[in-house]
Amino acid sequence: MDQSSHKYDVAIIGAGMGGLCSGALLANQGYRALVVEKLPFVGGRASSFKYRGYILPTGALYVETGGYVESVFKEVGATFGVRSFPMGICFRMDGKDYPMPQKGGLRQLVSTFAGEAEAARLMAAIRRAFRWNEPSSSISIRDWLLRYTSNDKVLAIFRGLSNYQCVNFRDEPAGEFMRQLKLSIGASAGAHPQGFLELMKELVRVIEAKGGHVWTGCRAQRIMVQEEVVKGIVVEKDGDDLEVLAPVVISDAGPHKTVELAGPENFDNGYLKELREKVRPLAYIGLVISSDRPLVDFEGVMVVPEGRRQMTMMCTSLAYPEYAPPGKHMLQAWAAPDSSFLPLDPAREIDMVVQDLREAIPQFDREAEIVHVSYWQKDWPMYRALPGALAQKTSVENLYNVGDGVAPLVPLGLPACAQSARIVVEDIRQRTKPAAA
Ligand SMILES: Cc1cc2nc3c(=O)[nH]c(=O)nc-3n(C[C@H](O)[C@H](O)[C@H](O)COP(=O)(O)OP(=O)(O)OC[C@H]3O[C@@H](n4cnc5c(N)ncnc54)[C@H](O)[C@@H]3O)c2cc1C
Repeated sequence: MDQSSHKYDVAIIGAGMGGLCSGALLANQGYRALVVEKLPFVGGRASSFKYRGYILPTGALYVETGGYVESVFKEVGATFGVRSFPMGICFRMDGKDYPMPQKGGLRQLVSTFAGEAEAARLMAAIRRAFRWNEPSSSISIRDWLLRYTSNDKVLAIFRGLSNYQCVNFRDEPAGEFMRQLKLSIGASAGAHPQGFLELMKELVRVIEAKGGHVWTGCRAQRIMVQEEVVKGIVVEKDGDDLEVLAPVVISDAGPHKTVELAGPENFDNGYLKELREKVRPLAYIGLVISSDRPLVDFEGVMVVPEGRRQMTMMCTSLAYPEYAPPGKHMLQAWAAPDSSFLPLDPAREIDMVVQDLREAIPQFDREAEIVHVSYWQKDWPMYRALPGALAQKTSVENLYNVGDGVAPLVPLGLPACAQSARIVVEDIRQRTKPAAA
């Protein structure tokens, strides 16, 4: 390849939701984009792989429909091939199941355990938080609730809802919990019947159809910076180091990795301080369990809030039979570890979740086989940070971050990644034109 073929309008590090949405939006606007991905597949923590006949996610299970992600797909002409996800929630407490009606479900559940008067008081406080102001995020949602209730069952219900947001109840800031609860009202979601990889390949198709490239198995080694302005990236391709010149670089590798790749000496101290203090990755645990018959018969998400760990589980094969081999079912269980922010001890955490599963599912020992165990932390976390931690622009000119390390204040996870990409692309459009324009 001659030198000119390594010039792009934008170089993007990482083919996760943030990176691919950025690439597709830019390619659609006429920018020549290169996405480099160190793994052999695209999608990052929103991808999937086949294992023993099962389709397993690398992270995300579902994506909001009619929201930020779908709007990017629509705009760039990518097929959003998701099928409706069962949004129902059922709490399993003391061996009994409490399905939560979509409307008024939380109040009904709280009043079951705490009576009408306490439920009314708590719901009034939540409505006030929705209507007037989020509670302060300097306390956890658990500490916020203690002002209104000391009922263990009620606290457990909210512990379960925290797990639905994938954050430990004691660690989740009250304001963040309340914002996500409000955003979840009336939300709908879907999953790709063949797994997330197929969905993400659609964005690759758009980037390539519009003159861009996506190189998998290609690690960015360095971000080139001169006098606090970005110049491009150095990648390892087919065993060689290759310079890719680009006036704009977007990193989906996470803000900490971005600084490592560009060199901390190129950033201002205030930016580095914010990064250190605010961008803290969250940990999470997941198990995939196989059985001949469904281990739970509820189609949506089953919340098990009173165990050693806060746990949610779902018999995914009820809604997506394609995910399991013929004649088999697949239950997925997820739990926040003892602390979302401290390094986790995988063996101990998994042991806790297995004990909880055995108690929550009477036939577990007879019928269940654990097929796969995953944990997410550090460089490959649940989320790289909570929303609002850091802006997408870095202190290096024309170097941006996207993804869940710089999530804006929208629904957690994939919507936040897509919206971070939209914010960045809008800024690029204001500042630079494609070279070919
Ligand atoms: C268990 C779990 C369940 C989840 N469930 C949901 C859900 O149901 N719904 C939802 O909306 N969200 C969910 N999420 C959150 C969602 O998956 C993430 O927020 C989202 O996928 C993060 O995307 P990203 O673009 O920030 O980064 P990533 O997906 O991490 O992508 C970054 C990419 O950059 C690559 N990379 C890193 N360094 C380099 C380098 N030097 N060179 C080249 N490439 C590099 C990585 O390999 C990776 O592919 C879940 C997450 C987890 C872990």
